[in-house]
This record gives sequence, C-alpha cells and structure tokens, in this order.
Amino acid sequence: MGDVVIAGAGMAGLVAAAQARALGAEPAIYEKGDRPGGSMALSSGVIWRHRRFADFRAECHGGQEPLQRLVHERLDADLDWLQELGAPLAAGPPGTGNPHTAGRRFDPPGLVSALCAATGPIRLGQPLTELPAAPLVLGTGGFAANRDLVRAHITAQAEHLLLRASPWSTGDGLRLGTRAGAERSAGMHEFYGRALPAPPARVAPAQFVALAQLYARHAEVTGPAGGRYRTRAWSEIDVVQWIARQPGARARYTVGPGQLGVRVGERTVAEMVAAAEAAGAAVERHPDGRVTVPVAAGITTTLGGLRAGPDGRVAPGVFAAGNDVGGIATGGYSSGLAAALVLGRIAGRSAVQAARRGEAPAPASASPGPR
Ligand SMILES: Cc1cc2nc3c(=O)[nH]c(=O)nc-3n(C[C@H](O)[C@H](O)[C@H](O)COP(=O)(O)OP(=O)(O)OC[C@H]3O[C@@H](n4cnc5c(N)ncnc54)[C@H](O)[C@@H]3O)c2cc1C
Repeated sequence: MGDVVIAGAGMAGLVAAAQARALGAEPAIYEKGDRPGGSMALSSGVIWRHRRFADFRAECHGGQEPLQRLVHERLDADLDWLQELGAPLAAGPPGTGNPHTAGRRFDPPGLVSALCAATGPIRLGQPLTELPAAPLVLGTGGFAANRDLVRAHITAQAEHLLLRASPWSTGDGLRLGTRAGAERSAGMHEFYGRALPAPPARVAPAQFVALAQLYARHAEVTGPAGGRYRTRAWSEIDVVQWIARQPGARARYTVGPGQLGVRVGERTVAEMVAAAEAAGAAVERHPDGRVTVPVAAGITTTLGGLRAGPDGRVAPGVFAAGNDVGGIATGGYSSGLAAALVLGRIAGRSAVQAARRGEAPAPASASPGPR
C-alpha cells in the first residue's frame, strides 16, 4: 500500500500519480487494463479549452461553474507542466486547428510514456475493487463500457451503441465513490461520442479517430423511423446523442454532390465517406450524385459522474478526476483530457495532503470513529 492509492492509469490517474510523486508521496497505482493510458492512449490528444470562459459557461450551462472555472484558468499552466515532464506535441501546425478552442495537440503514445516515467510502477491488470486504507484518487474513466449503467442512465438502445473507448471504464469509480458517500453530478444521461460507420463496417480501436463521421452539419440526418435531426452544436455532440436514442442507435447521413468537397477540420466529407466505405459500411451512391452513409452512435465518454468539490474531494478521503467527475461539460462539450489534467493534478495534491492528515476513506454506512 502506498501513501496514496490511485485507481486508473489513464489521463487523470497518471497525472494525479505524477503530481503526488512530485510532492514526495509514493502512489500505489492500480490499472484494470493490460496497458497504461486508458482511452487517452486512443485519443486525438487535443487538450483544449474554450477561448472565452463565457462561451464555456454558455455551452455547458448545466455544469458546476467553480469546476469549469478551474479547468479554464489552470489549463495553460498545466499544459506547460505536461511539456516540462517531457510529453511531446504531435507533428503538424501548433494549436487545436479549431477556431472555437485554444490548446495543444499532444502525441498520445509520447504522452503516456512521459507520464508513466513520472509516476513509478503501475500494477497492470489489477483493478481496484475495494476502498483502500489510504487516501484514494478515482480515475477509472467513467462508465461508457458498462451496458447496464448506460441503459439505466442514457438510452434503452444501450446494446446497439458502439464503444468508442477503452473497454475497462465500467463505472468502478462511480461505485467506489458512492460507497464512500459521494453524490452524483447532474447530467448522468449525457455522453460524448461520434457517429461511426454502422455494421457491417468494422471499427478497430486504432481507427476510432479516422472513422468518425463528422459532417452532420452538411448532411440530411434521418433516423430509422423517418425522423430528421438538424445538428445545432459545433462539436456535433448533440446529433450523436440523438442517434443513440433511435431504434438500433442508427441513422443515415445523406450528402449532396456539392458537399463532398467541403472540409471539416483536416478532412473532406468525401474522405470521411471513403473511410467508412473502406471499413465495410453499406454506403449508397445514388444516380443523382447524393451519397448515403449508414451510421451508428459510438459512445466515448460519459459526462455525468461523481460530484466533486474544487479540491477534487467526492467523499472523506476520496478524490476524483477525469470522467469519474461529472458536472463539467454538462449541457455541451468540453475537453475530457483538459478536465482530467487539471482535476488530476488537484486530486493528486489533495490526496497527499489528506495522507499527511491521516485521512482515509470509509464506507458511508460505517459508524464514524478512529481507524
Ligand atoms: C477516439 C478518442 C478520441 C478522443 N479525442 C479526444 C481529444 O482529442 N481531446 C479530448 O479532450 N478528449 C478526447 N478523448 C476523450 C479522452 O480520451 C478522455 O476524456 C480522457 O482519457 C479521460 O481521462 P480518464 O483518466 O478519466 O479516463 P481514461 O484515460 O480512459 O483512463 C481510465 C483508466 O482507468 C482504468 N480503470 C477502470 N476501472 C479501473 C479500476 N477499478 N481499477 C483500476 N483501473 C481502472 C482504465 O483501464 C483506464 O486505463 C478521446 C477519446 C477517444 C476514445
């Protein structure tokens, strides 16, 4: 047992562990998967914030303002800290490439290596399943991979959703935090994800980024029952949540010939359609030049979770960061990596302070007393 215990060696857990070690603690790091990095290792590596705090508030209006303010105000300094640890930026132009956001694009494998070098040993293949006797940081990545919880909180179509994330984030942090007395945040029904080519297309984890169909704003979006949806969010987070609630979590994106050359970020619509086709999607090319791509909702991260204070505390002796904390992006979309970085550092620091005070988690129903 270390001075502090970290559950999860993804973005939040690794950052918390690196911070704890920098403060002189010896973190015991438990990781359920067979490799470190969690979903962060599969991500695009863009760690960002809204350019103006007012835009963050306006878009994610259901979130807890103090947490949002922390992420917004601390991110730039925390990005410098990451680079000082040796995390490399990705090749290509600086910045996020998105006019709505400010931040940096990191190379995910390099980010994992730099963080692992700063944390010390990781107990791979060892999930944390019980509350430990030392201060705990929960960084288990939310509950996107738990079909029952997704059905209970998000959509009756849970079994049809594609999982666009690591398979290990099954709500362990939510369960352990709740056992210690933590409360749930707002927005348990919300998630971030992307429309992906529907089966028979095959979507391997290495293609989660490349196969995202990110052109709903240029398409006619129809559900299996004939309903239509017009996306309103620049991030298209709204349309994927709509698709998730359609029969089979499916929809169809139809674009006219004039839209195929339109660029969304680094790719054209035609390139995204071609990627879907190459993956095996049943793309229809109509005689008039229109193209229809059958898509399915892919869930990446849950946005609801534990309710944390500004020190990352969710219960006595228990702190949380990353997707285990809800109430940051509620109502819209903000960077999960940014929240994991900022709250991860805060939670790591708070856990070390708790260890120095001799604080430890306890099941909420246990009678208070010396431990
Ligand atoms: C394809 C893709 C693209 C993305 N692109 C971006 C992007 O560009 N920008 C951005 O901001 N976000 C992006 N994200 C989201 C981002 O990766 C997540 O928001 C971020 O990784 C959350 O950090 P986390 O630590 O909460 O979860 P993770 O990084 O997933 O780490 C959680 C870890 O906890 C482990 N775990 C689970 N249960 C236990 C347990 N009981 N005990 C021990 N370990 C446990 C898991 O195995 C995992 O390693 C993307 C995600 C994906 C999949």
